[in-house]
Amino acid sequence: MESIYNLTKKQLTEYLLNHNAKNYHAEELYKWLYEKKINSFDEITNIKKEILDKLKQDYLLKTIKISKVERDKDVDKYLFELEDKEHVEAVLMHHDYGNSLCVSSQVGCNMGCRFCESGRRKKVRNLKAHEMVEQILNVEADLSLRISHVVVMGIGEPFDNYDNLTKFIEIINDPKGLQIGSRHITVSTCGIVPKIEEFSNFPYQVNLAISLHAPTDKIRNKLMPINKAYPLNELMEALKKYSKKTSRRITFEYILLKEVNDTPNDAECLAKLIKGMNAYVNLIPYNKTENIEFLRSDAFHIMKFYDILKKNHINVTIRREFGSKISAACGQLRSKKEEL
Ligand code: SAH
Repeated sequence: MESIYNLTKKQLTEYLLNHNAKNYHAEELYKWLYEKKINSFDEITNIKKEILDKLKQDYLLKTIKISKVERDKDVDKYLFELEDKEHVEAVLMHHDYGNSLCVSSQVGCNMGCRFCESGRRKKVRNLKAHEMVEQILNVEADLSLRISHVVVMGIGEPFDNYDNLTKFIEIINDPKGLQIGSRHITVSTCGIVPKIEEFSNFPYQVNLAISLHAPTDKIRNKLMPINKAYPLNELMEALKKYSKKTSRRITFEYILLKEVNDTPNDAECLAKLIKGMNAYVNLIPYNKTENIEFLRSDAFHIMKFYDILKKNHINVTIRREFGSKISAACGQLRSKKEEL
C-alpha cells in the first residue's frame, strides 16, 4: 500500500472527488496531515466516516521511523528506518535564520565521488517522494519545531532520482501543507547535465547547488567519475543556459583538499571558469572520513584560496561547520547498518 504523503494536493483532491468527497475535504485533510501531523486516520474529526474508511483501505500514513538520534550543539542527526528495513539519514541544523534539514534522496549512491563517505555504499534504491517528505515530518514532530529550509544534500544523487525529487518539492512547497518556500529549498547535484537542462523548466524557484570541487577536467576526473560522462565544458554550458532561463543564482560547492585542488593556481583557474556567471562559491573545509587518501587544507591555504577568488570579484563564502563531532557533517552520512 502507498503512503498518503506520496500524493500532491492535486492528486489527493482528485482521489477524494472520485470518492464522493468535495474539494474542501482535500484542504481539510492536508491540515490534518501536515499541521496536526496525525498518527492515525481516526484522529480526523471533520470528514465523513465512509471517506475515512476508504482512505484507511487505500493509504498508509507514515512509513518511516526514527531509529536513532545523535545530538550536538546546533545539530541533530537522525537515522531513519524505512519500510524495507533500509536506513537513511537526515541532519537538522539550527541557524539563526531558521531550521534547515539536510535530507537523503537515495539508499546508497552510484556517483562514486572519491572523497565522499555516503557513496561508499552503492545505490540500493531511490527514495519515493513520501520517504523524503516523512524525514521532515518526523523531525518536526520529534522536536516540536518548524523546518523552514530544506537542502537535498544527504545520501544520494537527487538528479539520479528526478521524478521523485520534483514531486517531493511540489508536496513540501504546498501553501496548505508544509509551506516550505521554494527559495528555501536547495538541490545539490554532482552535475548530471541532461537533468540540469530539464530542471531549468521546473516551475518552482528552487536553488541549485553544484558540487564542483575542481577547476579543471584533469583534477575533476580524479575526484568525480561523473566528470567523464559530463566534462566541465558541457557542465558550464548547461549551467549558463540554466542561468539565462531561470535568472537564478547558482551555488558552487568546492571542498578544499590539501594539495589536490587548493593551490593558488587552482583558485585562479576556478575564478576564470566561473567569471561573469550569476554564481557564488561555497568553500567547504574537508571533513575527515575513514578514507585517509585526502586531507583538509590548512587555514593558510583556505584563506589564500578565498582571497584570490575575492580579488577576482567572485562571490565566495567559507562554509560554517556543523556536526563534525557526531559525523553529521557533509559527506559523512552513511547507513549505520553498514558500519556494524
Ligand atoms: N550527490 C549530490 C548530493 C550530495 S551533497 C551532490 O553531489 O551534490 C553532499 C555535499 O557534501 C556535496 O557537495 C559533496 O561533495 C560534499 N561532501 C562529500 N564528502 C565530503 C567531505 N568529506 N567533506 C566535506 N564535504 C563533503
